[in-house]
Amino acid sequence: MTIHANSTQARDIAHALHPYTNLKLHERIGPTVISSGRGIYVRDDEGRDYIEAVAGLWSASLGFGGEESMVEAITAQLRKLPFYHLFAHKAHEPGTDLAEKLIKMLPLPNGRVFFNNSGSEANDTAIKLAWYYNNALGRPRKKKIIAQMKAYHGVTIAAASLTGLTRNHLDFDLPMASVRHCDCPHHYRFAKEGESEEAFATRLAEQLENLILREGADTIAAFIAEPVLGAGGLIVPPKTYFDKIQPILKRHDILFIADEVICGFGRTGNMFGFETFNIQPDMVTMAKALSASYLPISATAISEPIYEVLRDNSARIGSFAHGYTYSGHPVCAAAALEALRIYETRNIVGHVQKVAKPFLAKARALLDLPFVGEVRGIGLLAGVELVRDKKSKASFEPARGVGMMFQTEAQKHGLIVRALGDTIALSPPLIITGEEIDDMYLRLGRTFDAFIPQLNATL
Ligand code: PMP
Repeated sequence: MTIHANSTQARDIAHALHPYTNLKLHERIGPTVISSGRGIYVRDDEGRDYIEAVAGLWSASLGFGGEESMVEAITAQLRKLPFYHLFAHKAHEPGTDLAEKLIKMLPLPNGRVFFNNSGSEANDTAIKLAWYYNNALGRPRKKKIIAQMKAYHGVTIAAASLTGLTRNHLDFDLPMASVRHCDCPHHYRFAKEGESEEAFATRLAEQLENLILREGADTIAAFIAEPVLGAGGLIVPPKTYFDKIQPILKRHDILFIADEVICGFGRTGNMFGFETFNIQPDMVTMAKALSASYLPISATAISEPIYEVLRDNSARIGSFAHGYTYSGHPVCAAAALEALRIYETRNIVGHVQKVAKPFLAKARALLDLPFVGEVRGIGLLAGVELVRDKKSKASFEPARGVGMMFQTEAQKHGLIVRALGDTIALSPPLIITGEEIDDMYLRLGRTFDAFIPQLNATL
């Protein structure tokens, strides 16, 4: 591709520092400039259409345009009150309405909701609340947070520390000292020869308890997990994994933080991932589909017992000194309220359950292809792991960047997917129809047809 002087590409290369990008490569190839969207499609500035098979960053649950009532709700709020904050006994209607609505949806009766702007911030808030809670209870040592290897919880200093991926730590001086990582519940990769899913889950639960005992339960505040690990490789834990670890956490008085940033609002075929896996959380973090990603907003919900401790401690200190200027921004809150209204009136969960069947069946059929080692998925989430040798499960050399090569090839066939290492993630907008699913897999099939000979040639 030629990059013309003064084009958006050229100006971008000269000025923008991109998230999650090979910066050197970016200088050579420049960006694909996305200029418009509708439904599950986005269009680049040269007029090419793509099916956005990851909903952006697992986020655009209602697609990339065409939801007039979202635009109306946002503009109406912009006209009425474009900004107010929630500090120091102030409130506004969208903020109050959204907090009330979320508490009604969550299994946290009489709990409370704190608003942030991103998933990372929602998790940072959860950590700070766990610390504040234990300080208030006179347990200043009970501060460590356990997260899973390969989990993704964000990139702020604390959230990146929770994230169990080396590249998020390397050269950033992370993780911070109070974080511990436990085993990743990925059966295909980490089970022993012949170990059943059930036995694997039992072993991971035992290993978690050993970690807790080694560290001392009196030093551990919370455990955080995504119901399905997203950015770390689309990993669906064994069915009984959460059943086995929850009693251990309870026994050691360790809070369960459910990171619903990807799974929340229908993605797994229930409104929340904790329903799908029978998790009873003490805190829930949400973002992305909370506002269908029309505007940035995230939330950290806490149980009543946690709230009561925070309340009494803040009275003692004089203030609960945590909050962002944009916590509960009224326009973002209005967007979230409208997104939640759409989910309900259109029964988005029922829709996901219906289309998940062909979506997952077609994903699983890819297992017949060469180089496809595992296909995993639930709801409208699927991961297709590419391997060098199906029999031995041997991966490609990471330096070859096979996943990224696949992602680039897919784009030539009008399909945007996301490579998580060599796992290809599919997480389309929740509004995707049966026909659109067919079209998505047609494009994916064409990508494989072109890609497999390329891989064969380099073996
Ligand atoms: N938690 C999970 C499960 C996520 O997938 C992400 C983002 N992909 C985050 C947290 C961080 O969210 P953000 O990028 O909005 O900070």
